[in-house]
Amino acid sequence: MIVPGNNVRLSTRDSREFEGTILPDTNNEKIVIKLQSGYNIGIKKTKIESIKQLPKQMKKAIKKEKIKYNKNLPTVSIIHTGGTIASEVDYDSGAVIARFTPEELMGMFPELKKIANINSFLLSNMWSEDMRFSHYNLMAKAVKKEADKGADGVIITHGTDTMAYTAAALSFALEGLNIPVLIVGAQRSSDRGSSDAFMNLLCAVNYIAKSNFCDVGICLHETSDDKSCLILPATKTKKTHTSRRDAFRPFNAEPIARVYPDGRYENISKHATRQDKKDSKIKVKPFRENIKVAILKAHPNLYATELDNYSKFDGLIIEGTGLGHIAINEIDKHTGENKKIYNSVKSLAKKMPVFMTSQCNNGRINMNVYSTGRKIKESGVIGDHNDMLTETAFIKMAWLLSNYPKPMVHKLMMENLRGEISPRSLEKEFHFFNNNQ
Ligand code: GLU
Repeated sequence: MIVPGNNVRLSTRDSREFEGTILPDTNNEKIVIKLQSGYNIGIKKTKIESIKQLPKQMKKAIKKEKIKYNKNLPTVSIIHTGGTIASEVDYDSGAVIARFTPEELMGMFPELKKIANINSFLLSNMWSEDMRFSHYNLMAKAVKKEADKGADGVIITHGTDTMAYTAAALSFALEGLNIPVLIVGAQRSSDRGSSDAFMNLLCAVNYIAKSNFCDVGICLHETSDDKSCLILPATKTKKTHTSRRDAFRPFNAEPIARVYPDGRYENISKHATRQDKKDSKIKVKPFRENIKVAILKAHPNLYATELDNYSKFDGLIIEGTGLGHIAINEIDKHTGENKKIYNSVKSLAKKMPVFMTSQCNNGRINMNVYSTGRKIKESGVIGDHNDMLTETAFIKMAWLLSNYPKPMVHKLMMENLRGEISPRSLEKEFHFFNNNQ
């Protein structure tokens, strides 16, 4: 009975009951089960009063949907790339696996077709942490192809872990974008009662079909209940929680809009509209797949060799502490390494663009307040006064290095190209962030 994949009801000596699927991590001491909520629990065998075997979870047959064209509705193309939104729990192993085909996904959510004509196809079926620059190029080309065929908007379904990197990558790679592109994910797989997949897709289709938005955005839950989704700016957003459905938040920016599942929406911040982009022509400016940009997180007890490792790279982002600092001051007999760090920073900045961001996420780099910052600036590190997220800076630098000569890269890293650097820092942006944590 205690075999991975079996469904059981466990009663414990302290009168608690758990129902779920036995997972392979079960051993001599404990039984691990996946609960219906999707969470796993381990219970010591000595605490178990009784185990009852339940019938095996039957896999529901999923309807595949053929799509009929309705000329009164806009056309939205859904490009699937994988992630939790397109996956389900594998009840034999307890793991979440990528499984649904686009037709199956549409079969699960037929309501979408009342809002738009849906074209849907699979570009890849992968976890987003496995993505490389080549995948950004594939996505950008697929968006252009859909736009050229007449789509009124594109949705990309995507794993949430690196969704914000992809959103930034597409903002840069799709020059002259003239249709809305929303990247949508889910924190809970589509076969679970608590899944956020459907509502996120529903809000994204509604926003594309009904609003005038014309840019790249991210669409996910605003709160942990099913009240609304946020449309978030592609270059200013970060995943801030490992499992909550409302994990995505804008930094140094407000959300673009709030969308309700019934199709109502409220625009929150100024954004590009179809009107602004009506004369634009999409051009894909791809990433060079062999560009090497690194991210180094400044930390106490850093070693110069951590920087030297990147001497053969094309660019470096330093995610500094506070206003943009890294350990460079030799102040006593314990800090000799810091002098070596300074020399390493200086030598890297001679070879490649070295750009400073902050571990604070909120706020702006200011390398003029402390002598540490001024010295770092003198070493050739750029980025003073920027408020870019580290992830966005990483993507932007790789994209600039792919498309522009080095001196231009230095210059353009400091210019706002896709909303990634705010001209001014606004109180309300931080309040939005704070009040929604
Ligand atoms: N790590 C996976 C990914 O980012 C699963 C998480 C998710 O899809 O939300 O693709």
